[in-house]
Amino acid sequence: MAVSHLSEDEQLLVEAIREIAREQVAPRATEIDHTSQFPWDMKELLAQQDILAMPFPSEYGGIGSSELAVVMAIEELARNCATTSLILAVQQLGSLPIILAGTDEQKRKYLPPLASGEWLAAFGLTEAGSGSDAAAMQTFAVRQGDTYILNGSKRFITNGGLAQVTSIFALTDPKAGTRGISAFIVEKDFPGFSVGRIEDKMGIKGSQTAELIFTDCEVPAENLLGREGDGFKFAMMTLDRTRPGVAAQAVGIAQGALDLAVSYSKQRIQFKKPIAENQGIQFMLADMATKVEAARLLVYNAVAKLYASDIAMEVTGDAVQILGGYGYMKEYPAERMMRDAKITQIYEGTNQIQLLVIARALLGEK
Ligand SMILES: Cc1cc2nc3c(=O)[nH]c(=O)nc-3n(C[C@H](O)[C@H](O)[C@H](O)COP(=O)(O)OP(=O)(O)OC[C@H]3O[C@@H](n4cnc5c(N)ncnc54)[C@H](O)[C@@H]3O)c2cc1C
Repeated sequence: MAVSHLSEDEQLLVEAIREIAREQVAPRATEIDHTSQFPWDMKELLAQQDILAMPFPSEYGGIGSSELAVVMAIEELARNCATTSLILAVQQLGSLPIILAGTDEQKRKYLPPLASGEWLAAFGLTEAGSGSDAAAMQTFAVRQGDTYILNGSKRFITNGGLAQVTSIFALTDPKAGTRGISAFIVEKDFPGFSVGRIEDKMGIKGSQTAELIFTDCEVPAENLLGREGDGFKFAMMTLDRTRPGVAAQAVGIAQGALDLAVSYSKQRIQFKKPIAENQGIQFMLADMATKVEAARLLVYNAVAKLYASDIAMEVTGDAVQILGGYGYMKEYPAERMMRDAKITQIYEGTNQIQLLVIARALLGEK
């Protein structure tokens, strides 16, 4: 991916999103963080502006944007509000299994209301006992006639309890390892589906993270994605495509923190001059900008969640430092950006798991 590969239309779209994010998303960010409430108004804004439609194919109500355009949209939103950027990222994450593996009938039924933003999507892989080791899941599905009966639970699911549609991964053959995992489209109203605890988190406070519980949950057999045993493959294919979005979220958060540090350092007077006139501060700003730009180029050209999320932690921490005591206070958004940045090192595969993936590729292992 390179920036020059954006079509002219997509360049205009990304510029429009930059403006929408600055004018309509940024003013809401502090309140979303303080109230920890899911920002339905932001979801509506993204839906109305067709931003949620970007990752969906045009034949199913989307606008079929390139991966690069989606990544850049996430970045622009995250620069102003990480929670809002996650609405777009998770709409893609939860819907991709259907886009990648759904039948035409499944796509016709589920994708248009997801593309329009009428429905929210979620992605249910993680469990209490299975995080990095996703294949250790315990949730299982047994076929009975035209129905699968699901039992078990999922943990830390973004949009859990809000999403109408969740891609759920469950064991259909516990002895077959990763080949025994299948993927299902589960609707919020299916009998036996319920929402458990809602998590209280460090950052991305407006994003709802919930436990999903399946108690003899009835899922029509027609909601199986692909064939039995294909689920793990679909989960990994999905994460391969969405991790650049998390990386872009990290770049956006870091850019937002850099913007803040630059403007604050020009205004804050100490020793009778703006702190930006100290070379020590200038060098920090220059280092921060170098890291953000390096991460951005890596993200635009490759999967770079590892680097981008690490520099997001460094740059947001430096922004707090440049704001001094004010950086530690909720009066300024620097501390929120630092809290929001942390999650990008954890979800969709921790950075240790990213190192494993990179090392395996280097060593030619599967
Ligand atoms: C806010 C939030 C939202 C989330 N949203 C979703 C969602 O929508 N859907 C979903 O399915 N999941 C979601 N997750 C789950 C997330 O993907 C997992 O938390 C993550 O993959 C890590 O799993 P874990 O928490 O069980 O940690 P563990 O896997 O228990 O890891 C603990 C530590 O051990 C390290 N570790 C584990 N294995 C190895 C290894 N082999 N080598 C070296 N180090 C290792 C990890 O890097 C980490 O530092 C979300 C999590 C959070 C916090």
